[in-house]
Amino acid sequence: MDCLFCKIIAGEIPARIIYEDDQVLAFHDIAPQAPVHFLVIPKKHIATLHDLSETEDKALAGHILFTAQRLARELGCEEGFRVVMNCNEMGGQTVYHIHLHVLGQRPMHWPPG
Ligand code: AMP
Ligand code: ZN
Repeated sequence: MDCLFCKIIAGEIPARIIYEDDQVLAFHDIAPQAPVHFLVIPKKHIATLHDLSETEDKALAGHILFTAQRLARELGCEEGFRVVMNCNEMGGQTVYHIHLHVLGQRPMHWPPG
């Protein structure tokens, strides 16, 4: 499959991996938008948040979120951080394999761009 993040999961493209288990992978974003900026992705290819299945993927969705929570703490974001999942072009998505952005160690502003 011609998917950048599936290639990172397969080890075909290098990444600065933070955490991996049988279900998820977390790695530093290649173009960080904050001092801490990493992505948590499922190993299962799911193109967009629209494609996440409430019946099949509920535990996986929770695991992605709790992985983000734990790693944010471990990377020094106790004071606060932001999680973002962009969906489709209108939502700013550029890689069509779902990923939770975790950004921290700088003040975040609202509304986002
Ligand atoms: P999005 O725009 O929400 O789809 O986010 C895609 C993210 O993937 C962007 O923040 C990119 O900087 C990041 N990205 C693209 N290629 C790589 C890569 N090879 N390794 C790590 N992060 C990447
Ligand atoms: Zn993929």
